[in-house]
Amino acid sequence: MNLFVILFSLATLLQEGDPVRFSANFDSGSLGRVDLIDSVWVRPSRTDSVLHLSYEIISRSDPANPANPDLMPSGRWFYFLMDNVKGKHIYLTFKNTDPKRAVYSYDGINFERFPHYQASMRKISALFEQDSVYVAYFVPYGWERLQERLADWTATEYVTMDTLGTSMMGFPIQMLTITDSSVPACEKNTIWLHARVHPSESPANWQLEGLLDRLTEDSDVAREYRRKGIFYVVPFTNPDGVYGGYSRSNARGINQEINWDHHDSITSVEVDALRRRMDSLSKDRPFDLVLNMHAQSDDKISYYIPTEEATTTEYHERAMRLAYLTTDSNPYFFPEDMFYSAPAPRYVEGWLWNRTAGNTLAVTIEMPYSFYNNNPGNEWVTLASLKENGVYMLRAVSDYFGWNIPGRYLVQGLERKNKTVYRYAELPAGEYHVFTWDNAWVLHGTYVRERPGAFRYVIRSQDTHKRPYNGPLRVSMQ
Ligand SMILES: [Zn+2]
Repeated sequence: MNLFVILFSLATLLQEGDPVRFSANFDSGSLGRVDLIDSVWVRPSRTDSVLHLSYEIISRSDPANPANPDLMPSGRWFYFLMDNVKGKHIYLTFKNTDPKRAVYSYDGINFERFPHYQASMRKISALFEQDSVYVAYFVPYGWERLQERLADWTATEYVTMDTLGTSMMGFPIQMLTITDSSVPACEKNTIWLHARVHPSESPANWQLEGLLDRLTEDSDVAREYRRKGIFYVVPFTNPDGVYGGYSRSNARGINQEINWDHHDSITSVEVDALRRRMDSLSKDRPFDLVLNMHAQSDDKISYYIPTEEATTTEYHERAMRLAYLTTDSNPYFFPEDMFYSAPAPRYVEGWLWNRTAGNTLAVTIEMPYSFYNNNPGNEWVTLASLKENGVYMLRAVSDYFGWNIPGRYLVQGLERKNKTVYRYAELPAGEYHVFTWDNAWVLHGTYVRERPGAFRYVIRSQDTHKRPYNGPLRVSMQ
């Protein structure tokens, strides 16, 4: 009997080699169950043999949701380490999540998407060059990454950081305030941004990183952004979820996105902390803009635009203007990519709508995981393109408020009979393009200033019975 067990174990060892070990006990790590479904030696030639191992991966579901018990816990996110993989052909099938092409890394820092020939929807088939490899739904953005970047951003005098409160597991909910404090607050627009309500949505933080890098950089443009606005930024609204590798919930199973109308006793401590700080900061004057940053499985960037029926024509149009400004000359984001929805009070947008009667424009923006504009033939989502989208969004915010930024001036006109006259007191010397606005910036003409001085531009009506164009002009170097 004992001899049989020994022989059987030996046979198993010879059959399977050194077993592959799976683990996920690290920042943002997550794995449910792993089942080995097949193990076979393949001889591609007489002198060569490769062990082929097939695993079924069940991703880990969030805890049951005590605040919304009818909601099925989500299990989108996975991020795990496999050891002992070198030289083996590994097949992974994901049973309850939907990666189109997952990502991998040999060091847990630099991730790459599996190439097309190694990955497809829910499947990976790869031979690894090194013995340990991390595999994730998308490039993680964990607690440690955020702390490193916060150290960079807060190293300058115009960025301060404090804490809104403490998460259930004891993480600080960190908030940056970014502004040039030499300009009085009453002369600035106020913008609140928060991300990562849903921990699986790491693309939102890569987008936000691009925005924050631009906003804090030492450049004329960034200096002007900081003179014109006060930016309150909460990068992780759900730090427990991020660190714990949850999908859409905090550590208690609560989906924080839909708890803004719940009484304190049944919502999460995190939403409570956000509401308190938003209330105190906007006590005297509502925020001008609130951006709620997410990622979605749809293969496009989208704003959730508040519908006209649920709000007002004016409010809907403001949201559309911000959306069109974000899509303008953006190679990743197009007007047809929007979603439209009513701002129900369970969302931050509805909570704000009820409090500010439309004074605060609040919208959700979603980044994709896979590709843009529903087109898999285009470049797939990279960290670089997500960061670029952070820069595009910041530029859209600037245009939305009509800020004049070095190299990019927004000028309002005065309508007189059949013409509109645009003036700007002090335009630096340079060659400019002049654009009118028609849900995108449309080139109207060019303007050259040999020396710094007053800008004057006249747009006449094409037809004497019609009013001339009287919208904003963009006068810019590019
Ligand atoms: Zn989300």
